[in-house]
Amino acid sequence: MPSRNGPCHCGSTIKYKKCCLAKDEAAQRALAPPPQPASRLIHHRGRPLLVSGGRDLPAGVLDHAVEFYAAKDRGEGPAAQLMRFVQPLLDGCDDDTQMEKMLNLGAVFWNLALVEDDEREELLAQTLSKLPNVPDAVEFRALAHDMVKRHKAMFPAMHR
Ligand SMILES: [Zn+2]
Repeated sequence: MPSRNGPCHCGSTIKYKKCCLAKDEAAQRALAPPPQPASRLIHHRGRPLLVSGGRDLPAGVLDHAVEFYAAKDRGEGPAAQLMRFVQPLLDGCDDDTQMEKMLNLGAVFWNLALVEDDEREELLAQTLSKLPNVPDAVEFRALAHDMVKRHKAMFPAMHR
């Protein structure tokens, strides 16, 4: 790092801070990794896996997640897709805590939608057993069912 008050590295006789400093800092910022979205895809044992809020969701359920990358190429990343998907859950939120809860729930439903139809019941039962404070399992199942239907309608390419 050249000194701010020293001569600029470009060979001009001007002080670095008055010469190339701003340009260099802009280049530095451009190289920095983008901020992590709330939900993102990682690869886990060779398979795409959606992680949310730093907590891994069940592995091996996103066989169709390759579609994410196709959508990303089309300009909508997985985080944007997820946000669009969970919108109805977020509409009733009053505060950040609720919002975060619903985002996590939305990611659960997202993964639930992506398992094969005949594996969904098992994952749903697993999920229910792991979720504390589900006041009404019947209601939760109904909501999960609706969200899976919504996912199929919104992202048909992931359900081919
Ligand atoms: Zn310079």
